[in-house]
Amino acid sequence: MSTDAHKETLGFQTEVKQLLQLMIHSLYSNKEIFLRELVSNASDACDKLRFEGLSDDALFEGDTDLKIRVAFDKEARTVTISDNGIGMNRQEVIDNIGTIAKSGTRQFLDSLTGDQAKDAHMIGQFGVGFYSAFIVADRVTVTTRRAGLTAEHGVRWESTGEGEFTLETVDSAQRGTEVVLHLREEDDEFLDGWRLRSIIRKYSDHITLPIMMDKEAGAEDEEAPEEEEKVNSASALWARSRSEVSEEEYTEFYKHVSHDFEEPLTHIHSRVEGNLEYTSLLYIPKRAPFDLWDRDRRNGIKLYVKRVFIMDDAEHLMPNYLRFVKGVIDSSDLPLNVSREILQHNKAVDSMRNGSVKKVLGLLEGVAKNDAEKYAIFWKEFGKVMKEGPAEDFANREQIAKLLRFSTTETDSEEQDVSLEQYLSRMKEGQDKIYYIAAESFAAAKNSPHLEIFRKKGIEVVLLTDRVDEWLVSSLTEFDGKALQSVARGELDLGELEDEEDKKAKESVEKDFSELLGRVKESLGEQVDEVRITHRLTSSPACLVSGEGGMGANMERILQSVGQEIQASKPILELNPEHMLVKRLRDEQDGDRFGDWSSILFDQALLAEGGQLEDPASFVARLNQLLIELS
Ligand code: ADP
Ligand code: MG
Repeated sequence: MSTDAHKETLGFQTEVKQLLQLMIHSLYSNKEIFLRELVSNASDACDKLRFEGLSDDALFEGDTDLKIRVAFDKEARTVTISDNGIGMNRQEVIDNIGTIAKSGTRQFLDSLTGDQAKDAHMIGQFGVGFYSAFIVADRVTVTTRRAGLTAEHGVRWESTGEGEFTLETVDSAQRGTEVVLHLREEDDEFLDGWRLRSIIRKYSDHITLPIMMDKEAGAEDEEAPEEEEKVNSASALWARSRSEVSEEEYTEFYKHVSHDFEEPLTHIHSRVEGNLEYTSLLYIPKRAPFDLWDRDRRNGIKLYVKRVFIMDDAEHLMPNYLRFVKGVIDSSDLPLNVSREILQHNKAVDSMRNGSVKKVLGLLEGVAKNDAEKYAIFWKEFGKVMKEGPAEDFANREQIAKLLRFSTTETDSEEQDVSLEQYLSRMKEGQDKIYYIAAESFAAAKNSPHLEIFRKKGIEVVLLTDRVDEWLVSSLTEFDGKALQSVARGELDLGELEDEEDKKAKESVEKDFSELLGRVKESLGEQVDEVRITHRLTSSPACLVSGEGGMGANMERILQSVGQEIQASKPILELNPEHMLVKRLRDEQDGDRFGDWSSILFDQALLAEGGQLEDPASFVARLNQLLIELS
């Protein structure tokens, strides 16, 4: 890298190279989308200038007439896309088109299989934006100047897309960005005004800025002064009525606002009139973005005021648990110079947000009701995020709860497809609680000893295996008047589900074993809070439960794994009086052996619920000793 002169050569991140190759290969059959992507960027750049111009008028340099130009030159074999938007300074050029700053790139590349056909399919999901220029060009030249900088501060970036790019300073750059594509031999088809016009109308008609092209000159008036014309309709799509917008238009608009290459799952377009007037066009994507769990992720809502773009990423317009929603909200009540600070404490914003949340929840309800397959796709992608809902959005808790899906003891796969309403409809007579078990994995939950009695009695139990589930049940404590009850917490109380016979049997058993319980507690000491008899087990000898007020072992493990210091609560050891081992233990006279067996029961109960032994070696030694004695 040379740094003194004003031209320097820099290397792409290795990721860029890899991505470019894959992209050129995979988008080959749909080359024309390069224009959509570059026009979309030009439009974004003008939006950014508008936003920054709100607080610094000088950025406009006296020219507020923002537009995009598309031109071609048959002789030079170039297609040029230019805008008079925000532009980029030198560092921004390096950051934005010399690296892939998008979070999740590494992850994306790691997930590639190496099979080009399969991987090609995934690139659409990733989105390649600017780099799609290389589908049709073997050399791309970008000349740009950031709004507000003087003309000598222009920068020219050039690359053949093969691992390097050059940067040089230019001293007569216009504000904004000009992208020149030097077309590959085989892509001459794009050196055609009609072709370019039709691509723009197909993909970019909804762009609210004018996209200008030179008028097609007839052969005879070559001398006439060149004139420009607007190629797109440049009207706000969301401001039209629903019946005037086609599905294709909705889809192309979605791709622009979301930067997604795929179609959306569904959308809702509505106008609210009355005290407060606004229009919203909101989309649910088909796939979760790579940065769904990233703290710095972008929000998906663009705010407009009376059709004038105000800002991207308007985080006050959608709660966190609906962060996957993309689209626009256009208000007639906010001032044009609204800032992020104003948005924070604004009544109109609050009601638009509440209204939009209702719309999205209603949309999802409709999908759940009418199209189970679509809802399953949604749930698979965004279910974990939706589960944050009841904690974050107390007012809509019931409505969100209806949208939740779970796996239960009745489902055979990990797929979460049981709603709480379905659960209620399948409850046993006399059952008044929604039972759940929380564990680290589906297998651990499904095979937990705690479920034995429930299986025997045919009672369905919800299996909670996502980390967020623990937060969910801490805020969603009941549904439709039925309490959610952990099967691993507190005394087992099956209420009406228990018959008289069960109760009598219990009483006599408890007498029988009372002495044993005291001895086990003494032997285990501080490891347990209490030892008691249980009727929740049918085939296992022992299990651990947490006290009524306890946090639950799974929750404790989650907190510990994220580095939280917590005072672990002592568990309660429950013994199954029907089990051979427990009966034998009751009759064991040898003090040492009694101690070993008690420890083994405790340790295996801990293992069964996914816990870790403090001293695994001793457990193994005791177990082996026991096996030898039995053989
Ligand atoms: P995305 O549009 O999803 O951010 P792109 O690959 O299309 O991704 O663009 C990368 C970045 O390059 C943009 O985010 C923007 O910062 C910058 N950029 C691209 N085109 C322009 C342009 N015409 N004017 C200003 N900045 C641009
Ligand atoms: Mg883009």
